[in-house]
Amino acid sequence: MKGAILFAAALAATPASAETVRDAVAADMPALLAIYRDLHANPELSFEEVRSAARLAAEARKLGFEVTTNVGGHGVVAVMRNGPGPTLMIRADMDGLPVTEQTGLPFASKVTAVGAGGVQTGVMHACGHDTHMTAWIGTARRLAAMKSQWSGTLVMIGQPAEERVAGARKMLDDGLFTRFPKPDTVIAFHDNSGLPAGVIGYTVGPALANVDGIDIKVRGVGGHGAVPQLARDPIVLAARIVTTLQTLVAREISPFDTAVVTVGSFHAGSKRNIISNEANLQLTVRSYAPDVRAHLLDGIARIARGEAIAAGLPETLMPVVSSDGESADATVNTQELTLRMAKLFSDRFGKDRVKEVQASTASEDFGVFYLTDNSIQSLIFWVGGVPQDKWDAAGGDVAKLPSLHSPFWAPDAEKVIATASEALTAAALDILAKR
Ligand SMILES: [Zn+2]
Ligand SMILES: [Zn+2]
Repeated sequence: MKGAILFAAALAATPASAETVRDAVAADMPALLAIYRDLHANPELSFEEVRSAARLAAEARKLGFEVTTNVGGHGVVAVMRNGPGPTLMIRADMDGLPVTEQTGLPFASKVTAVGAGGVQTGVMHACGHDTHMTAWIGTARRLAAMKSQWSGTLVMIGQPAEERVAGARKMLDDGLFTRFPKPDTVIAFHDNSGLPAGVIGYTVGPALANVDGIDIKVRGVGGHGAVPQLARDPIVLAARIVTTLQTLVAREISPFDTAVVTVGSFHAGSKRNIISNEANLQLTVRSYAPDVRAHLLDGIARIARGEAIAAGLPETLMPVVSSDGESADATVNTQELTLRMAKLFSDRFGKDRVKEVQASTASEDFGVFYLTDNSIQSLIFWVGGVPQDKWDAAGGDVAKLPSLHSPFWAPDAEKVIATASEALTAAALDILAKR
């Protein structure tokens, strides 16, 4: 009988349903990986997620969810009402990127499409949203099968156009919180190229940055390259603007605040002996705090104008500063939910597999749900995707490894999907626990 007592003690030390959920996910992995390979080989660009959405909708319907499609574009909303209790929303994003895949995987994407700029491009799940959709299906299957063990309302959404930071807002504008049960809690995960496969990362508070895409059209007076005194050279002016912009972060923002101003594109001119009329700059601007964000955006406009005045341009030729319409607000993980889930995950997976990590200057539109209503508890957590052998070979130096959006990003999908399906299922069972 000694063995039986030890067995009982081991069970008692494990959180409720740990084995059940883990074993059920493990048994489902061959089927989930087949879905993953199919999604990976068939990526779709933002706003074009027709096939991916159909896949999620069909899976959820089979499981008994009430499914509505075409919410805010190709968004999918799957609702399971299961008695009294809170409402939990779980989100997966569905879009791929205009990247030509170079992973060499047997199921690599060969899909091409015409991208936003009208240019033919390869299409790839270079951000790993295929792992998100697959884990969404894995989670939906577990929670449908374990319906007797939770109470409340589960809303699972497939969100379009995350890469354009537009899909979450479009779903809200199309009645996500009015036509469907409004959540008390929202949860998502993202695969991560800075953590070894299967390791969960979390950040309390702001986890992802405010991002603003800013365009500056610098105007000048064109002319012959031989007689610059008769022209106003927009290339020299734009170069000065680029240089002065560097002082925003270095000299105007507190060293204790986070801010990034990157000029990622500078286009001007057609020929060596022609002074052009115009130079075009494209910037990405990142921050966490609203006042820092406002200072950066005001500062960019001030510097562009100030340099143009210094260059002697008339009022009619001041630079035109505009937003590219792909701005995103910071994604905040609310403290209570984040700490509760961090403990839940760490009890389940062990402390070695659950780490608090620094906030990232990347961005997301998942934060929009919380920003719409601050009473919502919100968490996005990371699931490491770097295959362990690659992580070890790089000595954990992420600079030596492909990042998200790289044509070489090939996560250990099995570990990501198994970990995320188990974590999301466990989170839901906790949040929707029978009272
Ligand atoms: Zn991405
Ligand atoms: Zn992504």
